[in-house]
Amino acid sequence: MNVYDSDRMTDILRPLGFSLSNDPDDADMVILNTCHIREKAAEKVYSELGRMNKIKSRKKNQGSNMILAVAGCVAQAEGDEILRRAPFVDLVFGPQAYHDLPEMIARVSRAKGAVLNTSFPAQVKFDHLPEVMLGSEAINGASAFLTVQEGCDKFCTFCVVPYTRGAEYSRPVSDILVEARRLGDLGVKEVTLLGQNVNSYHGVAIGGTEWGLGRLVHEIAEVEGIERIRYMTSYPADMDEELISAHGEVPALMPFLHLPVQSGSDKILKAMNRRHGADQYRQLVERLVKARPDIALSSDFIVGFPGEKDSDFDSTMKLVREVGFIQAYSFKYSPRPGTPAALLNNQVSEEVKTERLKILQDELNKQQLVFNKSCVGRTMPVLLDRPGRFKGQMIGRSPYMQPVHLSAQEHLFGAIVNLHIDVAQANSLAGSLEAVNQSKNVA
Ligand code: SAH
Repeated sequence: MNVYDSDRMTDILRPLGFSLSNDPDDADMVILNTCHIREKAAEKVYSELGRMNKIKSRKKNQGSNMILAVAGCVAQAEGDEILRRAPFVDLVFGPQAYHDLPEMIARVSRAKGAVLNTSFPAQVKFDHLPEVMLGSEAINGASAFLTVQEGCDKFCTFCVVPYTRGAEYSRPVSDILVEARRLGDLGVKEVTLLGQNVNSYHGVAIGGTEWGLGRLVHEIAEVEGIERIRYMTSYPADMDEELISAHGEVPALMPFLHLPVQSGSDKILKAMNRRHGADQYRQLVERLVKARPDIALSSDFIVGFPGEKDSDFDSTMKLVREVGFIQAYSFKYSPRPGTPAALLNNQVSEEVKTERLKILQDELNKQQLVFNKSCVGRTMPVLLDRPGRFKGQMIGRSPYMQPVHLSAQEHLFGAIVNLHIDVAQANSLAGSLEAVNQSKNVA
């Protein structure tokens, strides 16, 4: 979502004469788009601001100005604090306010003093964003993000998202379909439907009915040019029957799903306010596999949530071994200001968190490597969406989101090709060309 937001900010700024630069020394404006989900990410902002201020001061001495902006969830949660700790910042705005960038920049240039905008209306933002066009940053080769939902009403006791991104908001069906058709026209083959809690999507359709994500996926699959659909991030308790069946009915829906479980212990899941138990999660996976037998899963885990005992952690390991994940993100619990779990007095020591994280990650890495190795010898359709590090080299995505490297086939950029998988590594595969898919956009 942050990548998407950064891309859209670039789209907004382009008509004002801005273009992207990789070098802050060269920039008229620097925007730090920030994440508040864990303490480490939030603290990084202040050290990075110090670094940017040095550049800003140097430029000032040379007679040029650099606007320094902080965007995203740290800005939303700690706006005043940022201006206090870093008074040299010009602009602080939250994730629901970036459509106002042109006006905010004008205000910064006119006025002396900083501008703070942490207003919340997600709907207003979408109404004011420019349409996705050719050259839009939101389109990466043949793959694009499409936000369908924002915010979260679930209030997991560890999580800041409901406070930083606001309440759940679903974009209307017609707006999403217009954007999907536009993406298809622009040559996009893969869309990833985005939302903090994407599977709770309930958008208004023509006639006033409400559609869930399953229905929406069916409709997007009909859009000319769109061959692959993904969605993230899902909340397990909100996987409804329609969405589960869509996995069996819509071939364009890729057989890979990110389904955060967080813990395998019912006691901890309850304390997290997750609204699903470990067995419900197992049953959900069974239903998904029944609908789409080749589906593979990734997940998120938190170790060391307050009150987590060895036995609770063992339950997490048991679930991991039983379900099997081909990829995963795992974190030490990080107390976040304003969340209920941060106030609990049974916090787990750093030492224990470190130990548990290592055990969990060793198992998850092992599972990932086993899956990657099982792909060797198979032929997979790979969407070649990025140039590789060396000339001629390409990187694509398998149906399971594994990066697949391919040598010297630059002319196939944007195509879906069948690759024979030759090599598997911990985080990627390498393949060779089998037969070019007869897709009409092959360059
Ligand atoms: N909507 C998702 C959560 C997205 S936040 C869900 O329902 O599960 C992304 C991930 O960050 C979470 O899945 C969680 O694993 C991790 N995370 C969130 N808050 C955290 C915290 N306080 N400490 C450690 N990890 C956290």
